[in-house]
Amino acid sequence: MVKPVDNMSKDNIEELPGVGPATAEKLIEAGYNDLMAIAVESPRVLSDVAEIGEATAAKIINAAKSAADIGGFETGDLVLEKRKQIGRLTTSSKALDNLLGGGVETRSITEFFGEFGSGKTQLVHQLAVNTTRPLDEGGLDGDVIIIDTENSFRPERIIQMSEGKGIDPEEVLKRIKVARAYNTHHQMLLAEKALEMGEDDKVRLLVVDSLTSHFRAEYVGRGALAERQQTLNKHLHKLLRFADRFNAAIIVTNQVSANPDQFFGDPTKPIGGHILGHTATFRIYLRKSKKNKRIARLVDSPNLPDGEAVIVIKEEGIED
Ligand code: ADP
Ligand code: MG
Repeated sequence: MVKPVDNMSKDNIEELPGVGPATAEKLIEAGYNDLMAIAVESPRVLSDVAEIGEATAAKIINAAKSAADIGGFETGDLVLEKRKQIGRLTTSSKALDNLLGGGVETRSITEFFGEFGSGKTQLVHQLAVNTTRPLDEGGLDGDVIIIDTENSFRPERIIQMSEGKGIDPEEVLKRIKVARAYNTHHQMLLAEKALEMGEDDKVRLLVVDSLTSHFRAEYVGRGALAERQQTLNKHLHKLLRFADRFNAAIIVTNQVSANPDQFFGDPTKPIGGHILGHTATFRIYLRKSKKNKRIARLVDSPNLPDGEAVIVIKEEGIED
């Protein structure tokens, strides 16, 4: 069973009318471990998930709506004040930092997508190294968790990139925790586990490289699409919760569809569909250029102009 992230919420859920221990267990297992998650769900989905009648589900949802701290409207100046707490993580490329409005933002999901060899994993390594740096060097003075689905994490690269910056590689390696994820279920469990670890370790960067490869392999064909998107959505919201709770940056990588299929047939389009498109705040499309150059293009930012930056991948890491 998935261990509930927060024991308090389990108690809260069980206090809802119509939720016994068995239903609470099912809800938590499915990722509904706080009142808000239940409050915003539809009766049909909740009845499926908890194996209860739709009428009961509707009753539970209504109770969750009254009990959840839905919050209120905030004035723009307060929102601005909150945005000032958002951290910025340097990519080691000035051009790419500028494109992102000053670096990778905390409290958001940033997605790097592109074909094989476009530099996604190299950027992940660089951002991991940089996260451990102090704030005045563009870091977040924090630890890193990497969920590695393609076995592409290389400590050797961390050493090279640390040495490139003249910092002690041992220190950096100690602050990066890596786990291989063997399938989507395992990947999601690791994200839960990360939520538990975040507290103790001052984790400021959580990486899922790649977010979509297992999803793509496991959910094949038209019939599996809805379920794939639902599961991916759940996973992404777990990541967002991590971002919020620890004021952390979230980096996910994503492939473009190389073998055209009927849904995601465009070789310049990331897979993951609308769900990922709406959840990732920053999406950067990486493509190969001459030699070790890569072109990064920002797409669909809420507050930044679309544009491009050229980066270079060297042994010492990412540069302009
Ligand atoms: P992906 O987008 O598939 O994750 P990567 O980030 O792994 O791609 O990029 C792989 C590329 O990074 C290689 O093709 C190479 O150009 C570059 N690269 C990898 N290691 C080094 C290194 N030690 N020195 C210079 N460039 C490297
Ligand atoms: Mg990779």
